[in-house]
Amino acid sequence: MPEKVVIVGSGPAGFTAAIYASRASLEPLLFEGAITEENRLDGTLPLGQLALTTEVENYPGFPAGDLSAYLKSSLPEEHQWLVDMHQKEGCSGPELMHLMRRQAENFGTRIVTDDITEVDFSGQPFRLKSLSGQEVEAHAVIMATGAKANYLGLPSEEKFKNRGVSACAVCDGALPRFRNKPLVVVGGGDSAVEESDYLSKFASVVHLVHRRDELRASKIMAERAMENPKIDLVWNNEVEEILGDDKNGVTGVRLKSTVDGSQSEKEVGGVFMAIGHTPNTKFLEGKLEMTTKKYLKWTVPFRTNTSVDGVFAAGDVADDYYRQAVTAAGTGCMSALDAERWLAAKGL
Ligand code: NAP
Repeated sequence: MPEKVVIVGSGPAGFTAAIYASRASLEPLLFEGAITEENRLDGTLPLGQLALTTEVENYPGFPAGDLSAYLKSSLPEEHQWLVDMHQKEGCSGPELMHLMRRQAENFGTRIVTDDITEVDFSGQPFRLKSLSGQEVEAHAVIMATGAKANYLGLPSEEKFKNRGVSACAVCDGALPRFRNKPLVVVGGGDSAVEESDYLSKFASVVHLVHRRDELRASKIMAERAMENPKIDLVWNNEVEEILGDDKNGVTGVRLKSTVDGSQSEKEVGGVFMAIGHTPNTKFLEGKLEMTTKKYLKWTVPFRTNTSVDGVFAAGDVADDYYRQAVTAAGTGCMSALDAERWLAAKGL
């Protein structure tokens, strides 16, 4: 029997879709992604980008305060370790994601820890194949595969990935190689500020290198960077080369001024990229319509329909504009309601 609905992705969009679809008795099957080294390096492990962040201060319903008792009673045994790490400052990204996962499971969502790598949307039922070879059929599909962090594309960056180059301060920042060292963060958005702020707890100084003379980050975040004495804002510069050697990994960066092209070098122990994201849609090329930036296209205003009837998209995979946890959750909810109504209309 084909599944009524398969959800692909396990960030706020995927799990919110799962909560709504479960409560509508659609018994969703959710592929949360595989735990592989490739996914770790790409930042596409289960639970999405929120699992790679620290404090979440803008998700409604989690004010600053001690939520330890609530977390202790809500999280299953195997995730109680999160409670020990709890900052007493509202909710962290990983906590929020484990809570959403738990909520989806409570309502009956079946979760598979695997990637969907192939889809066939040419006819009903749709067919999906996973990395481990599992094949499933589904009448409706919700794509919620999110986006992943971009890199500059320098050969030197590739060479030093895992040895001083990272796109995730929260995953790697506390490693001994970065402690009490000067570090570079590249970018000028909220992520760059957030990563700099986080790294400033470990680093001797964080050079925040931005290609313009004004941050793109929101006002409150930009002020946080300006006020942090351990963040050194390096305006109008790009990282031209990452310097290092086989023994030590990253030892420095060569910068190039975007104003006059002049070069300079900084000795640093690590470089963290925070220069935006690319949607996880490679396996959907030729299957669903996309924008020029490869985000899935929503084809009906205020609906989550894609170019294929019965396939819906939610969260960052289709949104290059808002890209917030709460908007991802919102479109996740919409996609489940859209799928439910679509199935009902078809009598499925
Ligand atoms: P973003 O807002 O797109 O910012 C990317 C930054 O990287 C920009 O400053 C951009 O420079 C720079 N950049 C892009 N390509 C570059 C390149 N090749 N070389 C050098 N610099 C480059 O991305 P984001 O910071 O990841 O934020 C994404 C979304 O998530 C936003 O909506 C943001 O508000 C949200 N977010 C929110 C929070 C929070 O509220 N706590 C935290 C993180 C992210 P230009 O400015 O010159 O284009």
